Amino acid sequence: MNELLNTRALLLKSVRFQESSKILTFYSREAGRISVIAKGVLRPKSPFGGKLETLRELEIILAVKENRNIQTLTEVEIIRLFHPERKHPDHMIYALAILELIDQTLAEGHSDPVFYDFLQAMLASLEEVSDGRVVLWYFLLKLCSFLGFRPRFSDCQSCRSPLPLESAIFSFSDGTIYCSDCSPLMVNTRRLNSDQLTFLHRLQQQHHQHLPEFNLELPGKHDYTEFLTAYLNHHLDHPLHLNALEMLPAGR
Ligand SMILES: [Zn+2]
Repeated sequence: MNELLNTRALLLKSVRFQESSKILTFYSREAGRISVIAKGVLRPKSPFGGKLETLRELEIILAVKENRNIQTLTEVEIIRLFHPERKHPDHMIYALAILELIDQTLAEGHSDPVFYDFLQAMLASLEEVSDGRVVLWYFLLKLCSFLGFRPRFSDCQSCRSPLPLESAIFSFSDGTIYCSDCSPLMVNTRRLNSDQLTFLHRLQQQHHQHLPEFNLELPGKHDYTEFLTAYLNHHLDHPLHLNALEMLPAGR
């Protein structure tokens, strides 16, 4: 017997299926990541027509059968549209990268309404910030925590010397830093200087509501996107492929 599930959701990706249908992947508030078939969506008079786009929050109703991998979409309504490009066109790229990160790191199921709401807040804050990188980096830090490997930049793992440290070694395996006196012989590490450590620690401590005011005066040049995705990759069993970020102009 079918049960109906009503949930808010974000579309992560869609793939054409047979003549006129699509298989959709959503991240939903009530059911986590789910696969759904939208039957007949490509027919001209489909009631789903035009609604199933990315970067909008949707309310979807599914006919759910237990023991089935793909559920059936029965209704969809648009709740809210996101306009990350409002302040800068590049912010669209960061929004798509965040959706790719969700798609590639979360398994099916495992709903978490708090994390779902946080994801909405991240997409909304891309409409407000003047530099979208702050949202991407913040999201990467919080995604690491959500997945169970929160990085720690506040003090040396061994002697507990606090910031500011002149420089330190960040261990990908431990997710913590070691000051130059303590750093044991390790593989998979990055050296971070004092400014970079302080920056990452300060960003991680922010409340997400304050991201638009976050001072993004960057200490030197450091590719935090590369650093944080490398850290994520170290802990995932498959490498990330963030196609969206390849659309960024060189040097961003
Ligand atoms: Zn130490």
